[in-house]
Amino acid sequence: MKIYPLTLIALLAGWLVGCESHDSLDRIRHDGELVIVSRNSPTTYYLDKREPKGFEYALAAQLATELGVDLRVEPAFDLPGLFERLSRNEADIAAAGLTLTARRAQDFPHSIAYQKLTPQVVYVAGTYRPRDIDDLTDMSIAVLAGSSHAETLGVIEAQLGQELNRVEVNAADTMELLEMVKQRKVQLAVIDSNEFAVQQSLYPRIKVAFDLGAEQDMVWYLSPQGDNARLLAYIDTFIERLHDDGTLAKMRELHFGHTDSVSRIGSHTFALKMRDALPPYRDLIKTVAREYNMDWHMLAAIAYQESHWDPHAASPTGVRGMMMLTLPTAREMGVTNRLDATQSLRGGARYFKNIKRRLPDDIYEPDRTWLALAAYNIGMGHLEDARVLTQRQGGDPHLWRDVMERLPLLQKSQYYSKTRYGYARGSEAVTYVQNIRHYFNILSWQELPDQQTTPPMKINEHLPNSVKHARLWAL
Ligand code: GLU
Repeated sequence: MKIYPLTLIALLAGWLVGCESHDSLDRIRHDGELVIVSRNSPTTYYLDKREPKGFEYALAAQLATELGVDLRVEPAFDLPGLFERLSRNEADIAAAGLTLTARRAQDFPHSIAYQKLTPQVVYVAGTYRPRDIDDLTDMSIAVLAGSSHAETLGVIEAQLGQELNRVEVNAADTMELLEMVKQRKVQLAVIDSNEFAVQQSLYPRIKVAFDLGAEQDMVWYLSPQGDNARLLAYIDTFIERLHDDGTLAKMRELHFGHTDSVSRIGSHTFALKMRDALPPYRDLIKTVAREYNMDWHMLAAIAYQESHWDPHAASPTGVRGMMMLTLPTAREMGVTNRLDATQSLRGGARYFKNIKRRLPDDIYEPDRTWLALAAYNIGMGHLEDARVLTQRQGGDPHLWRDVMERLPLLQKSQYYSKTRYGYARGSEAVTYVQNIRHYFNILSWQELPDQQTTPPMKINEHLPNSVKHARLWAL
């Protein structure tokens, strides 16, 4: 048979493309990028000021360094969303404090364990304390939707022969569960031991009722698509080595350890900063917030996200001060010295208010605040693009939940190429807003007397009629 050179080239090219797209390890090296999807939470991955942090982030960053590639993190805001993205092959690895379960193992390849954790049932001290699973009947129990704990409760229901009163919460951060317990919206929650240990200082009255079963393996899951055998082997060797040489233990100590020195974990740092760094500025923040008719907890939460309440903070990108204003924004807001805390807070508050005023009239609280925060971070134009995308995809552009899902699309060429303002770091904007919500919740609740259960912000509160300059966006 005669083989034409062109046929040969086509065959060879096909074979090369095949190699590239099938073997994940080769593809990652070829693309120069490792993509992980992680839960956006203080124990896994979060942005601290503007820097990515968290145990899972640190572990994945080390893997990326060893592979000689960049790391990209796709934040997920709930567990079903996380696994969906992994199924769609939008990430190479899900690294998010994920428990090994039989059901997940059927659908996704997984690594060896890098950590062992015990699920715990928690309750408010002084209320009824269940001692074992038989005591769980008739009690309301919160778990993350799609979590291993939701699966476990299903098994318990089968054992008990009756349904439990469980509340599944669509969130990535187990702090949401602790909030619900604290506010007595539920009596109990199931949460992994490390996550509880890290957050407990913020919830001194929440205690462990009992361990829900034995220790469980935490693993990384891989995408079910492509040929993952070599990537998996590489990851397993990596984890084994980090385990054997003590690196993993050191990283765990750094992120989850409870030595009285400063732990690096977001909430823990936050609790300490609230004690030490906030008091000198609390009155000033309150005064400026009052001038701009803002909830001072919100101004404080933004300032913490921006600078950890450090009036001299500076970043290599040139933003400075308590509210990390850029030079042009500072000028526009009449700030002459960005390192002056009062000026910086005023500039930031004014800028935030301006943005809020420019949003369309029919966006109500609290979405109005979350969308304004996103615009504060990413710019009004990009937020507008994300809202247009939201509407095109059948979502509601007035709701933060819907827009938040589309913001990360601004990083993908098939989407941003069709938007007005183009590429933007949408995932970062989402993390930015979610972090501030997290800090805002803590600040608001810490300030209230323990018994009070009124939420700090009214849902769907309508805007005052005085909002006159809202711009109608072409959607
Ligand atoms: N480890 C849990 C899971 O894999 C998530 C964390 C939690 O719910 O405490 O579903």
